[in-house]
Amino acid sequence: MNTYPDLDFFEAFPWNKGFELGIPAIDDQHKQLIVLINRLVNTLIHNKPMEINDAFSELAEYADFHFVTEEAIWAEHLQNDDWVASHRHNHASFLPAVKAIQEKEEGKPLPEVIEKILRFLTRWLAFHIIDDDKRLAIAVKALESGANVDEAKKHAELEMDSSINILIDIVLTMYDGLSSRTLNLMRERQARIAAESELKQANLKLAQLSITDQLTGLYNRRHFDEVLDVELKGAIHTQSALNFFLLDIDFFKRLNDRYGHQQGDIALQQVAQQLQSLCQHPSEYAFRLGGEEFAIVSVTTTENDPLLFAKAICDSISALAIENKDSDTADILTVSVGMICGIPQPTENRDKLMQQADRCLYFAKRNGRNQVISPADLNEQSLLSLP
Ligand code: GH3
Ligand code: MG
Ligand code: MG
Repeated sequence: MNTYPDLDFFEAFPWNKGFELGIPAIDDQHKQLIVLINRLVNTLIHNKPMEINDAFSELAEYADFHFVTEEAIWAEHLQNDDWVASHRHNHASFLPAVKAIQEKEEGKPLPEVIEKILRFLTRWLAFHIIDDDKRLAIAVKALESGANVDEAKKHAELEMDSSINILIDIVLTMYDGLSSRTLNLMRERQARIAAESELKQANLKLAQLSITDQLTGLYNRRHFDEVLDVELKGAIHTQSALNFFLLDIDFFKRLNDRYGHQQGDIALQQVAQQLQSLCQHPSEYAFRLGGEEFAIVSVTTTENDPLLFAKAICDSISALAIENKDSDTADILTVSVGMICGIPQPTENRDKLMQQADRCLYFAKRNGRNQVISPADLNEQSLLSLP
């Protein structure tokens, strides 16, 4: 079976053969300590505040337990010994030092905290495990093979010659390299996350812009084509009703001519807002198709009777009471509506629907404007049969 590495897990401190003391009980615990240190570093890298505290506590608890085991092994072989005493002292300083860093760095930028903690842990590991623990382990082994305390300690000193300093140097250099890699990785990762989220936002905005009419904020013609297509196909598939209203403002050119283009723009925005407020259900869509032409497409009927809904459109636009004194229909702004509602035949398509709605609208204009016309008014068979 394949096991995949956790790509997000960064092993800042790999286990090094040089750490091995040859005393399995202690080596196993050292390995476990390194696992916990790696876990702590990773919670820091991924900036998970809850888990950072857990990882700190876990490391502290385990270190405590480990020190007890280790000290018992040393004490078993070397009673009242200054090496063991100094070792115990060293252990006792570990947790307070970790806690002090944790407290001192709290609230500081994460990379700084990580840098401090990594520096401390690498140095502690290198000096403590490779130097102190190793020296004691060599002495213990000599004792076990029959040497007396003095001989054993001398042997350990001899073994721990200058080569150990080279090893410590190598380990420190390697770990410093690793921790700066860790930090760089973390910075890169955070920069990448920020860039990705910006890109996502920009794409979302772009997608939104591409379907939005700039002047009114309604959906635009491009989105209308898409929505009408999708909703028509959906209604054919489920044999459910589709409502399509095509609207055109009456004598809008005259409003522009009399009150100015800017007033015209404001009127378009007011009409748009009104249409939007009539489309409260998620499946009711209002569009500005261009100029002073709008549309509403819906598959639900907030208003049970689509004709009543269409009339409500006309009434609510009139209720805006936008002055249009040069209109032949009224001295306020009005709209005409071509309406087709019902269950579509499988053979219908968007263009045919659009053409019939246009014919209805044209008839509404010829018939005096400010009114709703459906195919029945033209003695036409509706492309959408009545439900
Ligand atoms: P009808 O009742 O027959 O529809 O007459 P109308 O005047 O409304 O129709 P017509 O197509 O003759 O004129 C539409 C006008 O809408 C002409 C154009 O200048 C104006 N218009 C189109 N887009 C905009 C716009 O974005 N802002 C403004 N202010 N006017 C616009
Ligand atoms: Mg027009
Ligand atoms: Mg018009």
